[in-house]
Amino acid sequence: MLNNPKHSDAIVVGGGPAGLSAALVLRRCLRRVIVFDSGRYRNRLSTAMHCYLGLDGIAPENFRKICRQQLSRYETVTVVDEMVTAAEPLPMGFAVQAAGVTYHCSKLLIASGVEDQLPDISDIERFFGVSVHVCPYCDGWEHRDAPVAVYGAGNKGAELALMLRRWTRDLLLCTDAEIPSPELRKKLQEHDIAIEESRVLALEGHNGCLERIRFDNGKTMDRRALFFSTSQHPRSRLLAGLGCNHTPERGTLCDDDGMMSVAGVDAAGDASRERSTCYFGCVRGRESRTSYQQSAHDSGRLDVANDTLQMTTLARCSTFGRRPPPGKFLLQLLELLVGAMVQVD
Ligand SMILES: Cc1cc2nc3c(=O)[nH]c(=O)nc-3n(C[C@H](O)[C@H](O)[C@H](O)COP(=O)(O)OP(=O)(O)OC[C@H]3O[C@@H](n4cnc5c(N)ncnc54)[C@H](O)[C@@H]3O)c2cc1C
Repeated sequence: MLNNPKHSDAIVVGGGPAGLSAALVLRRCLRRVIVFDSGRYRNRLSTAMHCYLGLDGIAPENFRKICRQQLSRYETVTVVDEMVTAAEPLPMGFAVQAAGVTYHCSKLLIASGVEDQLPDISDIERFFGVSVHVCPYCDGWEHRDAPVAVYGAGNKGAELALMLRRWTRDLLLCTDAEIPSPELRKKLQEHDIAIEESRVLALEGHNGCLERIRFDNGKTMDRRALFFSTSQHPRSRLLAGLGCNHTPERGTLCDDDGMMSVAGVDAAGDASRERSTCYFGCVRGRESRTSYQQSAHDSGRLDVANDTLQMTTLARCSTFGRRPPPGKFLLQLLELLVGAMVQVD
């Protein structure tokens, strides 16, 4: 089994920042790792990655190239550009199917990411990642003080618009006919945020740069960017198939006590939690691997049955208010600070 390339200590599903970061730490802990990656990265249409200290502004594909180059120094990390089509628990470990081949591992890390549901506006893909965005932390700076639109039905859109006031005061909320609550409408008014209730018909501009929005009532509005708040769903159904607790929207898989529901399975990055960026994906990837290592160390072996500590550090501290394991306070503090700093007064 030791020299069998189809057997590994851990299989990582997903080769984005979270999966590759986890693979690096695992390998440096002398584990044999196989990473499977189907290449549908969440930020694949984005031109630059921000808020990642040391690499701020790097193109996402260059970031991934560097990550893979660094991993290639370690001979027993294999990255396979294939989709995992099935994963099932065995009495000892897991069997994983990819491209018609069965692989075996002791532990399984799901880092398969999420997919953003794009607003139902024709041609929006042309602008997504350049001037249409999901995250003010990642892309707000580039549009500071510019005329910006926010797209989101009901309260979600209103909350995002209020948050964006940190970056610009020239805001238009497009509710697509679903208006926010009276309390939020009052707040929007207090902050001079205009509301457009008619449906967005089209986005107009060149080379991905938004110039104006056309509404179905014939009106047009000049805007340089649009941020949207819709829902996301897990890119892979593997977590659900393995019987892990999960939410249909995000795939978060900790239970009410913050514990994983299936021994030997862990999740990292966007697949694991509510707040998501490349930075947090990497941190979570590293953390869950540290937990894995601790588990293997405590049990003295790597089989699932004897690992009483699951790979759950990541999930345990993923919700504020729950007591995190020692050493995780700094990360929570950082998250709280970032959140608090951008809140509208
Ligand atoms: C437009 C946009 C811009 C963004 N900008 C920034 C930014 O500037 N800074 C920042 O920090 N964050 C940014 N983000 C967020 C960031 O992209 C994500 O938080 C980050 O990519 C999450 O990493 P991940 O590894 O969890 O998932 P991903 O990067 O999405 O990678 C998941 C990988 O798993 C693969 N996969 C899924 N299922 C399977 C399967 N069954 N078998 C094999 N592989 C599978 C997918 O194809 C994909 O390749 C942005 C997001 C978007 C949408």
